[in-house]
Amino acid sequence: MLSNGPGQNATRQAAAHRTRPSYFLSLLTRSVAGLLLCVAVGAYAEGVRCPVGDIVVVDAAPADVDMVCGAAAETTAYMEALGLRATRPVTKFYLVNTIGHAHFSSSIGAYDAAADRIEILNYDAALKLMPARPAFGVTMNQALYRSFVVHEIAHATANPNFAHPPAGPAHEYIAYTVQLALMDPALRAQVLSNVPAQAFDRLSEVGDYLLMLDPNRFAVMSYRHFVRPENGAIAFEHLLTGDF
Ligand SMILES: [Zn+2]
Repeated sequence: MLSNGPGQNATRQAAAHRTRPSYFLSLLTRSVAGLLLCVAVGAYAEGVRCPVGDIVVVDAAPADVDMVCGAAAETTAYMEALGLRATRPVTKFYLVNTIGHAHFSSSIGAYDAAADRIEILNYDAALKLMPARPAFGVTMNQALYRSFVVHEIAHATANPNFAHPPAGPAHEYIAYTVQLALMDPALRAQVLSNVPAQAFDRLSEVGDYLLMLDPNRFAVMSYRHFVRPENGAIAFEHLLTGDF
């Protein structure tokens, strides 16, 4: 609301008087601010390199950049502790309305190893898709959405660690395991309750058939196998070397 009462005019004049000596300083400040804005817009268009993890988030809103970079930092730390090194070139990360590139793909995201590129549906698009195809029987929410960001970053981190061209099921075992391991604990409990499945008995059971037929079940069986005391990092090592 605007008001022009005499008291306010006096206040405004006093304020103008106080700032007049610093007019040139004000001009300089505005010029610097304009320059910084140009730099920020340039970085925005080309992508923002996450401080941790070899991920560049392209053309995304600041809140999405923060979310993806947070997920990249957490995923990288977790996988490095299991012996996987992020040695690839930088992976470009796109939030999209529809998934165009599909290699190792779920309904929400895709990792294209040849192009070193991740595409993930933006949250609104994922929300629209999920009532028809609920992942893990859970209504889409921010924690579930972030877990799929972790899933795709886990693919990108794992990829250069394979001794031979990786088999799809081995790649997905690692990506789903990291996704579930880094999930919010309450969400993970819900997923494990919604998807009744035992652990894989042995890695030789990790195959294409179940992955295609029921990826949710494949994910839970992988995670339950991974968390057995005798597995963990050793299971990843076998999958990465092809020794299974
Ligand atoms: Zn995947």
